[in-house]
Amino acid sequence: MNLEPALQRKLIQAVADQVIQHADELVALDQAVGDGDHGLNMKRGFEAVLADVDKISALPTPEALKAVGMALVMKVGGASGPLYGTLFMAMGKGLPGQATLVGVSDAFAAAIDAVKARGKSDVGAKTMLDVLVPLSAVLHQGGAELSARLRACASAAATATVPMKATRGRASFLGERSIGHMDPGARSSELIVHAILGVLEQEEIA
Ligand code: ADP
Ligand code: MG
Repeated sequence: MNLEPALQRKLIQAVADQVIQHADELVALDQAVGDGDHGLNMKRGFEAVLADVDKISALPTPEALKAVGMALVMKVGGASGPLYGTLFMAMGKGLPGQATLVGVSDAFAAAIDAVKARGKSDVGAKTMLDVLVPLSAVLHQGGAELSARLRACASAAATATVPMKATRGRASFLGERSIGHMDPGARSSELIVHAILGVLEQEEIA
């Protein structure tokens, strides 16, 4: 499948703007359970993506996703850089030839599996996976009001990380004290998904 360069540009711009605008909030969340750098890491990564937006949005969609992933691996750093990088690169690799919901949903599931393998993690460890995995299930179901349901799922899933105890990543060093705070990577996943859906809704694709 291949998206128009203009749409790819809008998607990149929307996701980058969203992450950059919420950098302080992501820093505050990471101060509670980690080292306080998640917002700055993500901001740096998406600024690098934006700096290359002309080049990236002109690429075929699989290549554009891989380029975004590469930039995130190179620039975000921390645990989240390689994990988000893997998500975007694997999504690029797995995109179906034809744009079907089943194909996109399978590609997303495969990309999540790649993140799980990379982070030796799974749902329930209070990470970005606690947002990505439920989203994948909703995407797989398809059906009416899909965009609204994906939005709601992302928000509910990020909120659901609050009472969890972290067992992966830096937050796991806190043990029980990680309970009561939203996972910063879960929140950034929610933000990214909302930004993508916002563009797709505006373009009447979702
Ligand atoms: P670091 O933890 O190295 O400071 P960041 O602060 O940028 O990196 O990112 C932290 C986020 O990365 C966490 O909130 C969590 O969502 C995610 N994360 C950390 N480790 C893992 C893992 N093993 N699997 C999935 N996600 C993880
Ligand atoms: Mg951190």
